[in-house]
Amino acid sequence: ARLAPDATTTAVCGYCSTGCGLKIHLKNGEAVNLTPNTEYPVNLGMACPKGWEALNVLNAPDRGTTPLLKNAKSGRLEPVDWDIALASFTDRFKAIQEKHGPASVAFLSTGQLPTEEMTYLGSLAKFGMGMLHGDGNTRQCMATAVVAYKQAFGFDAPPYTYQDFEESDTIVLVGSNLCIAHPIMWERVMRNPHSPEIIVLDPRMTETAMQSTMHFPINPKSDQTLLYTIANILVQNNWIDWEFVNEHTNGIHEFIEFIEPFTLERAETETGIPQRDIKQLALKIHEGKRVSFWWTMGVNQSYQGVRTAQAIINLALMTGNIGRPGTGANSITGQCNAMGSRLYSNTTSLLGGHDFTVPEHREKVAGILGIDSQLIPDQNSKAYNEIMEGILRGEIKGLWVICTNTAHSWINQSQTKDILSRLDFLVVQDMYHSTETAQMADLFLPAAGWGEKEGTFINSERRYGLLKKVKTAPGNALSDFNIFRLISKYWGCDQLFEKWQSPEDVFQTMKQLSIGQPCDITGIKDYKMLDRLNGVQWPAATDAAELGSQRRLFEDGRFYHEDGRARFLFEEPKPLSEPTSSAYPFILNTGRGTASQWHTQTRTSKSEVLKKLYPESIYAELNPQDARELGVVSNDWIVVKSQRGRLRAKAFVTQAVRPRQIFIPMHYKETNVLTDAVFDPYSKQPSYKTCAVKVHLE
Ligand code: SF4
Repeated sequence: ARLAPDATTTAVCGYCSTGCGLKIHLKNGEAVNLTPNTEYPVNLGMACPKGWEALNVLNAPDRGTTPLLKNAKSGRLEPVDWDIALASFTDRFKAIQEKHGPASVAFLSTGQLPTEEMTYLGSLAKFGMGMLHGDGNTRQCMATAVVAYKQAFGFDAPPYTYQDFEESDTIVLVGSNLCIAHPIMWERVMRNPHSPEIIVLDPRMTETAMQSTMHFPINPKSDQTLLYTIANILVQNNWIDWEFVNEHTNGIHEFIEFIEPFTLERAETETGIPQRDIKQLALKIHEGKRVSFWWTMGVNQSYQGVRTAQAIINLALMTGNIGRPGTGANSITGQCNAMGSRLYSNTTSLLGGHDFTVPEHREKVAGILGIDSQLIPDQNSKAYNEIMEGILRGEIKGLWVICTNTAHSWINQSQTKDILSRLDFLVVQDMYHSTETAQMADLFLPAAGWGEKEGTFINSERRYGLLKKVKTAPGNALSDFNIFRLISKYWGCDQLFEKWQSPEDVFQTMKQLSIGQPCDITGIKDYKMLDRLNGVQWPAATDAAELGSQRRLFEDGRFYHEDGRARFLFEEPKPLSEPTSSAYPFILNTGRGTASQWHTQTRTSKSEVLKKLYPESIYAELNPQDARELGVVSNDWIVVKSQRGRLRAKAFVTQAVRPRQIFIPMHYKETNVLTDAVFDPYSKQPSYKTCAVKVHLE
């Protein structure tokens, strides 16, 4: 009875990009429980374990409740009040900038902040504090899809709506373990009434592959070759939608010429897939009336991710599988607000999906914000890896890390920790003071988390969803929005942001920034409307109440390039970025290991329920053939070494991985000791999937 609710409200979940709606049960205005929202068009009354446990991770003992400042003598973080913390933030960063120039301080943010907070942060950092460089942890998950879409469609625009999972007759998943990475999207596949073919391209027999109708266990990073070969078979058989291609695309003839050498013989050698199976895959794509192609980190986190994503887009274009129900070349986002970061973080693009290098865009944004356009940098930010290199070269001396755990998640961890330790001043703003990165900070700022503040997230299908404050943050922790406001005051630039007294004020500015862009949201009046309509997908340039609740892009066949046509883009596949050798004979693949843990486990490890659903100590999946050769059985401790580091892991012997491959989940703090800092040349996304390692019994 003590917890019996006296009211309910709704909010969207704050973990993954699915963007499920939750019903929050309140007692005296504070959340006491939650259940999935049965009315929400995304999850239709379902939630995964992380969503169910979203409230329970807020009460952890390692929540930051007061700012912490490193004591110069003891080297330990000690509690200080907000006044000292903010004065320290301002004095130290200003001193660095005075000595080394404004670009010597940079920021790293996240796809976990609400869009309004991202807008404030990006504006404060670049227009108020004079920073030139800032990036987000979205570089680790979505940068590849962003570049692939921009180049192919003319704007970063995932075209689908989740209903497409239910309307396809052929679902092709490339490098996507949907079943555990996006469990509610997988549930939507399971609700598909058309008995669809579910085709999975993945080196591992993932949980998704186990339930597919066809699994292609391709050799690591041979996906691009396989996709080009499929395209070639489609051409050879004239299984092309010429009407669509001729009216809506450019570059098909150059593409046809390019794919000619991608023969079945070559594909079998490079991918490990028998020729008859490859032919069968092409036939299924041809026979499907509504074929949808989906990809996520298996494609994005690669040294050739952009061209691989575009190889998928090419298949959708040449078969006319786009702009119709159940079709599409569909990138599934990672984090709850990766798309907010894409559009409003002021990192890769200027606010509202604009371009820093275009003078008219700078003038437009300056006019809407009411600031001098000279305050807006005329060049793009360095990408995440370039910021790290900048620190290594001594050009960047101060770093502000907001809501991400760089020391755990960035590639090649030993090097990352060394790089962070070279900074003159590292500020970490986070919910928890225990993260690997917070432990390295000179100053820690305690932030409110999901459920303790308001704003909007934009999910994978472009839906703005509303996040609400349903709990009070512990101690002296503040919402990131209020921390940014305080910093702007202490820095002396608060006059630039006077009209932003609340997140909803920022939302109104975002609406203006979106005018004339493909992501126009001027038809959403306010938060109340967003709440009433159960979220709204962009574009919403007209009254959002008049728009349907499931909408896809390109129904008229017009893309965002000036000529309205999509582009075929392609390139010769590259060899493995770190080939195996006799010294390092295994290929390491990393990825999500469970539906119950999220990223670096910063939040999810705080839930007793979620902890029980996942092994606490690190494990490595190993094929039985390799296990026999190494004399290893499940639960033995093994040592895995790469050229960069070593770790101990418990062996899990399983047919899920092929011989000479191993898989280690990304959730453990040790995993990135092994990975190799190589990047896609276009998106600068790190390649977490392919490094060479050796394995032996401990
Ligand atoms: Fe939250 Fe994603 Fe789980 Fe839905 S699927 S409840 S959005 S973590």
